[in-house]
Amino acid sequence: MIEVATEPVQKETLYRRMLKEIVEVKPSPDLCHTQFPPQVVIESTAACNQNCTFCGRSYLERPKGHMPRAIYNRIVDEIARESPLTEILPAYMGEALLLGDELFDRMATARRLGCRKITLNTNGTLVEKHVDRLLEGNIDRISVSCDAHTEATHRLVRPAKKTSGLEGVYRGVHKLLEERARRGLARPFVEVGFTVFGETEHEVDDFVRYWSSHDVIIKTRPKGFHAGTVPGGDYRITTGEGRTPCGWLVDTMTVLWNGNVVLCAADVDAKFIAGNIEQSSLREMWNASLKWVREMHFRRRFGDLPEICRKCTDWQSRSSHTFYPNEATKAAYLDFVRAGRMVVYDAGSVHALPEIDP
Ligand code: SF4
Repeated sequence: MIEVATEPVQKETLYRRMLKEIVEVKPSPDLCHTQFPPQVVIESTAACNQNCTFCGRSYLERPKGHMPRAIYNRIVDEIARESPLTEILPAYMGEALLLGDELFDRMATARRLGCRKITLNTNGTLVEKHVDRLLEGNIDRISVSCDAHTEATHRLVRPAKKTSGLEGVYRGVHKLLEERARRGLARPFVEVGFTVFGETEHEVDDFVRYWSSHDVIIKTRPKGFHAGTVPGGDYRITTGEGRTPCGWLVDTMTVLWNGNVVLCAADVDAKFIAGNIEQSSLREMWNASLKWVREMHFRRRFGDLPEICRKCTDWQSRSSHTFYPNEATKAAYLDFVRAGRMVVYDAGSVHALPEIDP
């Protein structure tokens, strides 16, 4: 029996119970190695227009910069040749839409070369400005991180001087949905995301209720601590019987703006560098030290892991809860995310308002 420690809260909401279930989710026992990463996260830029309290970027000690086009091209060229179903996510510790046309040109290049899965994560502040280009056909999924349902909470956890706040984010999502419908497009899938933690938890029920009447996919997830870079997380399990293999490094590779490949998507401050894309291919790095760390996880030899993994608590937060507007969207979305993937942690459910506590 795993003892699940959680942050102290005043109220046992439905989401609190759901998050406990997430923590208890165990990766499939038949985890195995792949020859090529099913997902590649690309740090197109480490610049951002927000300074979020719960994001590892706010605590980075490594230098920040923009990824040179030559490095980007090298990555997508290899993916297109080796594994076109590998999902490309061109945003990491930064807001990629700050690159404007350059970002859209990069995604168009990936598509032209043959990459079949492209997902853009964004804080949503620039969505309204770029609706036309977001609907050009080079993006399959857009994930907008909201993490609040009131302006006050949004400004508390996502401080920024020059953005239009949550109102602007919501306006952008609505405009995107309207324009997608007007053009009769099935893609991109549009996700709205909410990270649940102390300062946001009281708004998550309202957030889900609000978006449940729109044609979006809703994702709620527990806060991660970016492998110790974000303060907190001490209440979670780090060692002992409760530990299970980590999902973060099973199927995702992360390339920083300077070409360095880090251990996993939680390793935001590059505590473990597996190599650099200018010296080695993605395939080579995926099958060298990263494979060894995966193997130690699969064999549950947690004491033999690199220090970053031994001290990390984020293996408990790989999953999210997903709600769909209808069965057809759910089926299409799962077809998309499962293509080329080994592990999908949460199948999710169709919007189910009656299940939500009043
Ligand atoms: S345990 Fe932490 S550092 Fe290690 S792979 Fe998982 S998320 Fe990354």
